[in-house]
Amino acid sequence: MNISTLFQQKKTVFSVEIFPPKRTDGIDTLYKSLDRIAAIKPDYISVTYSAGGSATNELTGRIAADIKTRYGIEPLPHLTCLYNTREQVRAQLDSLAQNGIENILALRGDRRPDMEVCHDFSYASDLAAFIRDNSSFNCVGACYPEGHPEAPGRARDVRNLKYKIDAGVTHLNSQLFLDNDDFYSFLELCEAADINVPIEAGIMPLMSKSQIERMIVGFGASMPRKFSRIISRYENDPDGLFKAGIGYAISQIIDLISQGVSGIHLYTMNRPDVAEMIYDSVKSML
Ligand code: FAD
Repeated sequence: MNISTLFQQKKTVFSVEIFPPKRTDGIDTLYKSLDRIAAIKPDYISVTYSAGGSATNELTGRIAADIKTRYGIEPLPHLTCLYNTREQVRAQLDSLAQNGIENILALRGDRRPDMEVCHDFSYASDLAAFIRDNSSFNCVGACYPEGHPEAPGRARDVRNLKYKIDAGVTHLNSQLFLDNDDFYSFLELCEAADINVPIEAGIMPLMSKSQIERMIVGFGASMPRKFSRIISRYENDPDGLFKAGIGYAISQIIDLISQGVSGIHLYTMNRPDVAEMIYDSVKSML
């Protein structure tokens, strides 16, 4: 199924992201988690891909194929292009197509100082155009409500985002954000830039001190005062911080659904307990 059709069928699409294990021998643990994540019946499940090239990249396609056959849920494997040649991309597209995959999240991927880029693709829009011209996959893209960290500003980043849409991307999944107003103003910028595809809000529940530090530093998400207060209050209480983090994500989602967003894309971090708690709290609104 082309997942872009979901947006015509559903009031609010609810999708989730998982990542392959770092080592191939972690696959059994992932499938135990997936059994429970799939049981909440998300509209589709996206599977990340390591930009720097890794042994587990082959797993992205394998897990995506299993999501479709084992659980009957549409998979969305990610694919990055900075460190892939055209031929490597072509081979991966062929393999995904043979496994019945119909949708791909086309990404540039992060730069790695320790690796030489391949120069066949510079931006995600190049990959999206290649996919459009060489296959029949439906192509999804990433977007950044607070602006991509490398872009010289949000307005410029949104202008660059338009290249992806022009290259055939049919919907966008957003980076995590903690202040819904950032997402709403981003939607306005997109509309003004003639970006009219559905945009799913990326929600990552932040539940531990180390995860918060990693995510805020890694993704450059700004921290609203409401969220800083939660951290101060629960910094020495891991259980309290976990519950407050889940509660914060739920309150974000409830507000987003009430405001009529096209979809919620939940970063599960492979935690079925987290996916279940959040889904149970919001499912009646979807
Ligand atoms: P692009 O859209 O190519 O943008 C990168 C930068 O280039 C931006 O600053 C943009 O403004 C600029 N730009 C774009 N086009 C042009 C142009 N024509 N001229 C000048 N500047 C331009 N990373 C992974 O490694 N694996 C994953 O599985 C993965 N999944 C992700 C899923 C989501 C939903 C999101 C939001 C991010 C994900 N990432 C993943 C991270 C992503 O790869 C990085 O954020 C990366 O730095 C940018 O990728 P992109 O596809 O958004 O790049």
